[in-house]
Amino acid sequence: MTPGDVQQLIDFSYIAAAIGFILALKWLSSPVSAMRGVLIGEIASGVAVVATLFDPQVTEYKWILIALIIGAGVGVPLGMVKMTAVPQRTALSHAFGALSAALIGIAEYYVAAPNVPKFEMGEIGLEVIIGSLTFTGSLIAAGKLQEILPQRPITYKGQNFFSLSVLAAAIGLMVTLVVHPEYTQLFPIMIVVALIFGIMLVTPIGGADMPTVISLLNSYAGFSAALLGFVLNSKVLVVAGALDGASGFILSVVMCKAMNRSFTNVLFGGFGQIHVSATGVKEERPVRSATPEEAAAILSAASKVVIVPGYGMAVAQAQHKVRELYDYLTKHGVDVKFAIHPVAGRMPGHMNVLLAEADIPYDKLIDMEDINGEFPQTDVALIIGANDVTNPAARTDNTSPIYGMPILDVDKARTVMVIKRGMGAGFAGIENPLYYMDKTLMLFGDAKGFVGNIVRELSGGGSHG
Ligand code: NAP
Repeated sequence: MTPGDVQQLIDFSYIAAAIGFILALKWLSSPVSAMRGVLIGEIASGVAVVATLFDPQVTEYKWILIALIIGAGVGVPLGMVKMTAVPQRTALSHAFGALSAALIGIAEYYVAAPNVPKFEMGEIGLEVIIGSLTFTGSLIAAGKLQEILPQRPITYKGQNFFSLSVLAAAIGLMVTLVVHPEYTQLFPIMIVVALIFGIMLVTPIGGADMPTVISLLNSYAGFSAALLGFVLNSKVLVVAGALDGASGFILSVVMCKAMNRSFTNVLFGGFGQIHVSATGVKEERPVRSATPEEAAAILSAASKVVIVPGYGMAVAQAQHKVRELYDYLTKHGVDVKFAIHPVAGRMPGHMNVLLAEADIPYDKLIDMEDINGEFPQTDVALIIGANDVTNPAARTDNTSPIYGMPILDVDKARTVMVIKRGMGAGFAGIENPLYYMDKTLMLFGDAKGFVGNIVRELSGGGSHG
């Protein structure tokens, strides 16, 4: 095989890998094809890596092998974390991805310094700044999600101005280096300033907003990889980085839209702090509550039930008990569906993943737009640990922080039952008027325990049908 043939084969493999990445993104967008998406993404990455190893520019394999062993040593245990730790695990992956992009950019600079062409200096500078700030930002995000760092937004007066000044300083240093690449002493200062900015970017954001931030950081890591592709003249890296960057950005936009929040509100809003009611005093209003026995009786008399899962179901890990309830009711002729709000829980697809883990059929998981029309014909809307995504104030109260957020119209069902531990607020920290409606019954208790008790009552009583 001539060197020309090898190069052609490598180029062909890169095109195949790029097609694989695009298919992976396409298939990952539905739970039915997601496994296929993961597989094709893995194969495409493998093809790209192996093709690169055959590149004639790779002259020695020793260091690659050492890095591979260290990487696998870190990656394998990271892949084994519990489902609930996936957001922080993802944040760590972005931190590593961004660090590698930054380190390669740094190496490229020192290989060429002090005679770095202006355009290349611009590329390297941007890539190193984005890679560095994404590295420290992702570490802070992971720390907040793992609760090693305080979850609450840490803010102080003049913070945004100060943070933006630090970013401006990093960019200023980069521009100086583009004009004077020979000022090599400025390069490490630029890196340190970018690393500090990453910390300042994420520290003021509340723990509960981290999924949106992580998706944004994912996007930054992708763009820094794409820039690295330009520096290294690697087309596959440009394509993969651009896909990663664009998809992360689109996901962040989708999440912000579903929460009816703007990017600026997520990044600078200090959301996720507890909101105190206007008077400062929490009013005590009566609610109607019911026992598992009463709930079981109502459910067994229903012919159409819509279950609305939320963050509380995830915390309680109640999905398997919910599956038992679903099994019992469907076996006894009740039509049971699940209403999925796009931002229920704390990460995109949170409810789909949990319900899939409990083997609930995909065709029973109905998206918000499709299920909302069915609530008026629903006998019971059973809310399990969801709060904000069912709050009618989003439709009616223009002073509410969630005003305008699309919600599940559970209040239109004939009876509403809400399983939660007490009158605690959800992520937005606000009251939910749904709980005070005449048709609403509060089922106080841990989601797993309460659903288990309902199932026990249903199976023990066995009066349905
Ligand atoms: P939520 O509004 O946060 O409410 C969850 C409710 O679950 C709480 O009110 C809590 O009430 C209850 N709960 C907690 N632990 C429980 C347990 N062990 N058993 C039973 N109930 C329990 O949840 P949501 O309705 O799913 O809404 C999600 C919120 O997160 C939205 O505001 C969304 O904008 C935001 N968010 C989502 C994402 C995403 O990607 N999905 C990302 C960022 C932010 P008690 O304390 O009374 O039990």
